[in-house]
Amino acid sequence: MFEIPKTMKAVVYRGVNDLRVETLPVPRVGANELLVKVAVCGVCPTDIKKIQYGTVAPPRVFGHETAGTIVRVGARVRGFAVGERVGLHHHVPCLDCHACRHRAFAQCAQYKRTGITAGFEPAGGGYAEYVRVLAFCLPGVVKIPRKNSFMDGAMLEPVNTVLKAVKRLNVLKGDYVWVAGQGPIGLFFTRILALRGIRVIASDLFQNRLRLAREYGAAYVLDAAAAGFAESIQRITRRAGLDAAVIATPADVLVKQAFEFTRGAGQILLFAHTKRGQELAVDLARICVDEKDLMGSYSADFTLQHEAARLVFSRRIDAASLVTHQFALNETAAAIALAARPTPESLKIVVAGK
Ligand SMILES: [Zn+2]
Ligand SMILES: [Zn+2]
Repeated sequence: MFEIPKTMKAVVYRGVNDLRVETLPVPRVGANELLVKVAVCGVCPTDIKKIQYGTVAPPRVFGHETAGTIVRVGARVRGFAVGERVGLHHHVPCLDCHACRHRAFAQCAQYKRTGITAGFEPAGGGYAEYVRVLAFCLPGVVKIPRKNSFMDGAMLEPVNTVLKAVKRLNVLKGDYVWVAGQGPIGLFFTRILALRGIRVIASDLFQNRLRLAREYGAAYVLDAAAAGFAESIQRITRRAGLDAAVIATPADVLVKQAFEFTRGAGQILLFAHTKRGQELAVDLARICVDEKDLMGSYSADFTLQHEAARLVFSRRIDAASLVTHQFALNETAAAIALAARPTPESLKIVVAGK
C-alpha cells in the first residue's frame, strides 16, 4: 500500500546552531514498533533551546509535535493499521514507578526517555520523512479522526502540556488569572482557562497577539509595554489581586510582578523558564505568610491525552488556526530561526512536507 524507500531526508543536529539536511536510512522497525511517515511537525521552544545552547550531544534529529501516516506495523503490534493517520507523543510514562504514583509523570525515568526517532539517539525525529515509534510509546499514539487534519494532530502535544498546567491551578469560575505572553502556548492557556469560566487577563507586546487573545476568550487584554500596567491589573481585579498568574514567557521581571499582583494564597505558575541557572530574589514571606504558591509545569500528562484530543479535534481549541508559517523539511533551520525570534505576525510554526 505504501512504498517505503531505503533512504530519506532528515534534518540532523550536528552541533550548536548547526542543522544539516542529510540522507539517512529509513528507520527499521521491530515487531513491537510502528513506522510513521511524517506529514507535519510543530516547532517547539524546547527544541530551539537544545539547538541554540547545545544542551544535548549531537547527532540527533529533533521535532516532537509530530503527525503522520502509519506505513508499517510491527508483526506483534495490535490495534493499528497501515494507512491510519496519527498524532504522536514522544514521551510515555510507565504509570508504575514512584514518580508516576505521585502523578509526576514528567519525572518518571521511562517518560524521560524519548521513544520516537529518525535515527541516532532518539530525540523526536519529526524533522525527517519517517519516524520509528518504539514499543513503549505506542500507548501515546492517537488516531486522527477523518474530519481532522494532520495539523490538528500535531497540536495535541502542546495543547496537552497546557491542559496539564491548567489542572495544577486551584482556580474557580469567575477567578482572575493573568496569562503573561500570548504566543501559541499563552493563547492555549487563555483558551483553556476561558473555557472553564476563568476571567483571563492576557498580556503581550504584540497587538496582533492581543487581538487573537480576545478571540480566544480573554476577558481583558493588556499591552505589556503600556504605562500603568500594574494599575490596570489592580483596577480589573477591584484591588483584590489575581487568583493566579501564568508566566508563559521567560522574563524574570514578570515573576516578580506576579508576586505583587496575586492575592493571598494565589498561585504563580512558570511555564517558560526552561533554561537552568536563572535565579531570582523572592520575599519568602510572600510564600509563607501570604501563602502564595510558586510552581511550575513541564511537558505533557499522558492521562490527559484524550481530553486534549477532544479539545483539539472538536475545535473547542482551534489550535491549527494559530499556524502562521509552514516550512518544507529542507527549510527546517529557517523555521527554527523564525520560531526563536518571533515577529509580530508569527505564531505557531510547523515543518510540513518536502
Ligand atoms: Zn513541544
Ligand atoms: Zn513511571
